[in-house]
Amino acid sequence: TNGFNGGPPLALCGNRIFPEAAIARSYVQYAADPTGFREYADGLLYLEQLYPRWVDVFTLDEHFTDPKAVTAGPDGVRSYEETDSGDGRQIWVIRLTDKQVPDAGKKKLFFSLSVHGNERGGLEGGLRAAEDLAMEAEAGTGEVSDGIPNYESATGNDPTFHTYSPAELLGRTDTYLVDFNIDGWEVGDHYTVPTSVYDRTNAMNTDLNRQMPTKGSINVTRNPLKESEMAYGTRFMHELAEKAGGLMSYGADIHGELTSRAYVDIMYPAGQFDSIEHRRLMAIAERTKSVIDATLYAGIQDEIENSTGGNESEGVEEVPCHMGPVGCIDTIPTNTIPTKPAHWATVWDTLGYTDTGFIGDYLATDVAVTGMDYEIFLNHTVPDKVWNVYLQENHINASRGIIKTAMAYSLHQDEEFAAFRLETGGQAGYVYDPAVVTDTDANGPGELPGPEGDGIGEDGLPVKQASYSATRMRYFTDAGELMTKPFVKLLPTDIARSSAVLDRVDSLVLADVPLPRDARGRSVDRAAYFRNLKAWVERGGNLVLTDRALHALVDLGLVEDGAVEDLEVYQPYSDISDFTDPLVAGLRANARQLVEAAILGYGIGGTASPMTGVSEEAFTGAGGVVVGTTTGAVTLGRLAVGKGRVQVVGGALPTPTEDNDHRFGLRDYGLTYSGLYVMENAVTYDAPGLGAAAPTGFSPVRPGTAAADAAAAAARGRTLAATGADLTLAVVGALLMLGAVASRRRGRAARRA
Ligand SMILES: [Zn+2]
Repeated sequence: TNGFNGGPPLALCGNRIFPEAAIARSYVQYAADPTGFREYADGLLYLEQLYPRWVDVFTLDEHFTDPKAVTAGPDGVRSYEETDSGDGRQIWVIRLTDKQVPDAGKKKLFFSLSVHGNERGGLEGGLRAAEDLAMEAEAGTGEVSDGIPNYESATGNDPTFHTYSPAELLGRTDTYLVDFNIDGWEVGDHYTVPTSVYDRTNAMNTDLNRQMPTKGSINVTRNPLKESEMAYGTRFMHELAEKAGGLMSYGADIHGELTSRAYVDIMYPAGQFDSIEHRRLMAIAERTKSVIDATLYAGIQDEIENSTGGNESEGVEEVPCHMGPVGCIDTIPTNTIPTKPAHWATVWDTLGYTDTGFIGDYLATDVAVTGMDYEIFLNHTVPDKVWNVYLQENHINASRGIIKTAMAYSLHQDEEFAAFRLETGGQAGYVYDPAVVTDTDANGPGELPGPEGDGIGEDGLPVKQASYSATRMRYFTDAGELMTKPFVKLLPTDIARSSAVLDRVDSLVLADVPLPRDARGRSVDRAAYFRNLKAWVERGGNLVLTDRALHALVDLGLVEDGAVEDLEVYQPYSDISDFTDPLVAGLRANARQLVEAAILGYGIGGTASPMTGVSEEAFTGAGGVVVGTTTGAVTLGRLAVGKGRVQVVGGALPTPTEDNDHRFGLRDYGLTYSGLYVMENAVTYDAPGLGAAAPTGFSPVRPGTAAADAAAAAARGRTLAATGADLTLAVVGALLMLGAVASRRRGRAARRA
């Protein structure tokens, strides 16, 4: 800080306040050194002094004028408890924006850095990112892009990229960077006596990344928001969101992890997202990945690749085995690993487990338009306090990429998919179920909060139960708003009375409940209902059965009683065996998890989530095409029936449950990006003579996908056969197709199973 508050000369630090990894001595220290100089606090104050136009720093206790807005501190008593000695540590906020530009209309972003005290990369990178931007904005140099064109987008869009000067970027954004876990950081400082290792938790031994009030199931041994750090932190996030008109543009949480198969795991949030929201999230994941892939030192990656035979494709992050209801059921020796610097997927598919109360999930669902969680490799108990320049440089540069890419994309993200509408070709419908899962019905909220299920929390205090009214039917109304032909709602009694009712639709979804109660209270003739459904399918209809509605296969007389089986899984998923099938068109090569069930109230555990499958023998015996399986049962597939077809999606729209502590309420649906694409694909269909006619040029398969290639190749094959053209061409075509399939297989092997 060039003497400011006693700091060393800037020149010693490469003319920066927070020096590059190569010339840094160690991690930034929170505690004061023997001369009284505080690297973090004094560094921040000097940053503000040097760049007053661009930087503001303050502490949460200052901001709230509340001395309790601090950490628990070394006495191990929470700041707001009566016996607290007032030893809480201050939580600093860095605000980055051009203060000469009025705040109105600026995109707000929020970053939580190193909330696990032993994962320092987020903070190290966040400080440098802030300094880079302020320094360059002041000097009128530098540029920041919202991605690098080195990939094909899974969103189906051809992404366009934008580059801004830091000065312009700070004129249009308003960004906040916070490290909440000072307790876990400070204990490991070199100047702390006695010094120890960095700590994951705060001084109360609480994991601050399980403290958010997320909807869905809550681990009963925790009390979200009990710790002052996250109670005030959440209040601060909400205040920013409110100032932004309801939601910030983006929020993220940057972590470290011990080891991984990728250098940076970009963990997709769990939430109730529609077709546009998912595409925006996919876009920011891809864009961030593109920047990290292009900027990180790849030497470590190359080494892993060489030693494992991995390649640069994507993979599921997990032990190399097929997962059964209670863990690994058999190992997959061919499961090589992805080694691109960055990798994105759901939390379960990147980490091999998931949980609730994550800051990243909360930011993405409750206070910001998009959000993400990040994990950075070897940024944990190893190396803990050891400063390894290569590692730290990568930790810092990954965090820079995460922060700056999101800032740049925030200027464009509202527009990129604004015009998106799903074209399903024909008309899709669903059978309406009036049942809602609510705390106001006869059984109240079901299971009450707390370890004993009696409404008393782990700390002996009463827990408030939030009110909710959840229904998976909301998927159809939400999705409908983004379809050229919104889903139409059909009632079971009407279907039972006349099969002609079904002629309005090309596709029909039975979600979870094969035959729901009639919304108008009329009785339903069960046999007639299934008879008419089957007759409509035989006329060309496309019937989509999800979750427990797979049992309708028996009622429709397509498989024997007993062939359909309810499964218990960690999260609903399917091991996809044929990525060229239109049902999975557009899915990424590592697609697997279909639903985030915890937000619907299901617990976290090997058998906590429901899905339904049909015996492979029965399904193929009936002529079914298997697309994906779960512990041996078919959970994605298609069965031709007459002129139409029945498609099964074993996990998609399970009914929310009240069986677990769900003190913050329940979500309606929780499709992952893969699950969403499966549902979009499942209803993309035009049956001749039924429903609506597709627009000219309509293709039932997502363009630019393996499924579209396969369909085109099949069509070419048919044409050649029909015209009796040169057989060699057909053979070459078939060989090319086989090659494509084989190379996708290799990609999948790299992923896992
Ligand atoms: Zn962490």
